[in-house]
Amino acid sequence: MGRTYLFECAKCGYRATVSGGADRGFQLAVQTVLCFECKRLYDAVTELRVPRRSPLRQPALRKRLVPLVESKRGQRPQSPPSFAAALNRLTVPGARHYQWLSFAPACPVSTRHRLRVWNHPDRCPKCGVLMDQNALPFRLWD
Ligand SMILES: [Zn+2]
Ligand SMILES: [Zn+2]
Repeated sequence: MGRTYLFECAKCGYRATVSGGADRGFQLAVQTVLCFECKRLYDAVTELRVPRRSPLRQPALRKRLVPLVESKRGQRPQSPPSFAAALNRLTVPGARHYQWLSFAPACPVSTRHRLRVWNHPDRCPKCGVLMDQNALPFRLWD
């Protein structure tokens, strides 16, 4: 079970809902990152559990999964899905064998953005003061 927390900056009011570090659920793993270009925090997907046998014969699934995995005939995917897309993807009925794809942490806006790993307690991406973590999880995810 992964947990998303609300982080707030007491100085400038910037808020982010992220895990605040490395976290892992049943279907995916994330790492919170600070993007220097966007000046925002994101949960970058670092691992994604996918069916080992290609489920992409079914057109409906193909539409949903191809943008996420971007597989080109067995090549490793170029860029990770966004956290929201990874959470919202369809689970594949009947799939028995899974594998984990791993990704280098990337900004969901552009993989070319420079970023660094962000682990609470850490600094506000806008103004640089330490951010406060809300005690209660904002959201739980698988
Ligand atoms: Zn701030
Ligand atoms: Zn960015």
